[in-house]
Amino acid sequence: MQQKIYLLKPQISKFEIEFVNEAFNSNWITTEGTNINGFEDDIQKYISSKKEILALNSGTAAIHLALILLGVKKNDEVICQSFTFCASANPILYLGANPIFVDSEKETWNMSPFFLRKAIKDRIKKKIKPKAIIVVNSYGMPAKWDELNSISKEFEIPILEDAAAALGSKYDNKFCGTLGDLSVLSFNGNKIVTTSSGGALICKNIETKNRGLYLATQAKEKENYYSHTEYGYNYRMSNVLAGIGRGQMKRIDEIIIKKRLINDFYKKILKDFTDIDLHSESSKVFFSNFWLNCILFKDNRDIQELILKFKKNNIDVRRLWKPLHKQKYFEDYPFYGDNLCLDLFNRGLCLPSSSNLTKLDVFRICDILL
Ligand SMILES: *Cc1c(COP(=O)(O)O)cnc(C)c1O
Repeated sequence: MQQKIYLLKPQISKFEIEFVNEAFNSNWITTEGTNINGFEDDIQKYISSKKEILALNSGTAAIHLALILLGVKKNDEVICQSFTFCASANPILYLGANPIFVDSEKETWNMSPFFLRKAIKDRIKKKIKPKAIIVVNSYGMPAKWDELNSISKEFEIPILEDAAAALGSKYDNKFCGTLGDLSVLSFNGNKIVTTSSGGALICKNIETKNRGLYLATQAKEKENYYSHTEYGYNYRMSNVLAGIGRGQMKRIDEIIIKKRLINDFYKKILKDFTDIDLHSESSKVFFSNFWLNCILFKDNRDIQELILKFKKNNIDVRRLWKPLHKQKYFEDYPFYGDNLCLDLFNRGLCLPSSSNLTKLDVFRICDILL
């Protein structure tokens, strides 16, 4: 059996363990310490932005907090891209609010500005103005931010940017993670940068960050006894795990270069496959970190059978997101679109994309597609 090729495998260097050791040596092993502040500074410097970073214990927690900060409450409506991971929308349910799903457009596979406008107008006609819009940069590909942000301004509905897997991607030279009113990153094991498990909220100002920090640390008042006037959450990142993140941030430029190189390998080999389209940047405005390389089949082939073939050859592949409005527990919520996202699910596949993938690996993968 040939060596296993994983879909996404984290790459750990010597830097990570040095920062983790620092946490142990200084005995700062809870949710305060130099690694947390250092990691937040690293991200702020990297996205070269005046935004404030709040490190949390998962991307999902960050989305939950972001919705709370945007004022989402029970029975409110929140618009969300249907073509995404369930964690983009689950926190809407945590708050007792209702998701309204919107289709993708075919260039970036992210939220369709056309159907977003349609959805907002229809909800307003039904006398419920949505509280927020969740836009995802799926697979690292930036969404159509100019159009989406102008709709957000026009109707005065804030955007929560799910940039969970889009660290290092840019729209019009601006980093993903800085494009929404609030933005979210994930540092799960399979993301661009990992802390084993973790996330971050990216805020416009220090007041929002401080409010987020307060809610993420059980809403403790500044008293010398346990005093609370409202309930909070246990969502802060651990200083030990932040050390992994600091080590990873030393190599972020190298990781993005490698990811884009792998996309180049795929592009060169797959250009001769006339029945396969590799998901690519449709213009210079989009700069993807190519977190995952995705393909679409033009013909109707049996994807399940193909996945089994990959499995026999010890290669991990995965289908594209099954749209959320087609998931059992979301079925009864409204959807605006013509099911382009369902077509993506039916015809698409994610190919292995770890940053240490070699050109030979890419040949081995494409051989099976042949
Ligand atoms: C990974 C991911 C999340 C959730 O992040 P966690 O850190 O795993 O909680 C949310 N949205 C998208 C698009 C993701 O890829």
